[in-house]
Amino acid sequence: MKPLPLRQTELDSLLQKIHLHVNSAPRRGQVATYIPALASVDANKFGLAVATLDGNVSSVGDAAEPFSIQSISKLFALVLACKTIGSDLWIRVDRMPSSNQFNSLIELEIESGKPRNPFVNAGALVVSDCLSSRFVQMESAVVHLIRELTGNPEINYDRAVAASEMAVAHRNMAAAYLMKSFSNFANPVDQVLKAYCAQCAIRSSCIDLARGALFLANRGVCPSTKKVVISPTQTHQVCSLMTSSGTYESSGETSFTIGLPVKSGVGGGLLGIIPGYGAICAWSPSLDQSGTSVAGLDALQQFVAETDCSVFL
Ligand code: GLU
Repeated sequence: MKPLPLRQTELDSLLQKIHLHVNSAPRRGQVATYIPALASVDANKFGLAVATLDGNVSSVGDAAEPFSIQSISKLFALVLACKTIGSDLWIRVDRMPSSNQFNSLIELEIESGKPRNPFVNAGALVVSDCLSSRFVQMESAVVHLIRELTGNPEINYDRAVAASEMAVAHRNMAAAYLMKSFSNFANPVDQVLKAYCAQCAIRSSCIDLARGALFLANRGVCPSTKKVVISPTQTHQVCSLMTSSGTYESSGETSFTIGLPVKSGVGGGLLGIIPGYGAICAWSPSLDQSGTSVAGLDALQQFVAETDCSVFL
């Protein structure tokens, strides 16, 4: 075990070691099939990237290959909502963990249409609704923010994946209508759902996502451009939500085993923040019950164990 910071060569060999470990482990989990366009993704893909505040990036495997970021996009949508709506957002969505699946409607009915947090689908739909009241095309505003943060102007959403999710978005639509019945949804459901599916269909790589999340390890300031993205308090709030809800009902377990603020996506991405040091992103499409990448969790756990970088130490 060697604490951070590591020299570039040490970081490179640690990632190679993790890659070997992940490749030799039996592959567990299932690729997401409930969005038809995601079902054909190669389950053997694995990428891992670490970006540091001093501008270095270390990566292995398929770290440069764009994948469907799905709910990792909710992190950037939340950041955009913090920037544009501020603390009024918390009138519409809570900051509590949930022990139900990301697309569950159970709590939403019991709790009068106020979603538990901005990462469960209902909460992310409220964020999309808020952003739809601010931007003509909220999905483009999220794409724009990710392009700016990663420095990659090529990033965009995949229209086929967006259409594929929209065609089966019955649960998300039900959640939005339920919230509308409680007067917690302002815009037409169809319009927001379309924008939400497009936002979830954004494609990006481990390298770009690790780079793009660096501001969260840097008190809200993008280290390359020195631009303030969000305030230190908002950074604290976003990272706290990632810790309590970033992998939905398994967030407690993720916090216990990894100990970093993280956000998962059913495309197999898992993005983690190492405050004061950098960001780490893994991609491997096979998921556990909570929709989190199995190999991604394994890789982040290894990295934290080898570098002692849990936020709780
Ligand atoms: N677009 C997915 C959904 O709404 C996102 C879920 C996830 O990535 O966790 O079901």
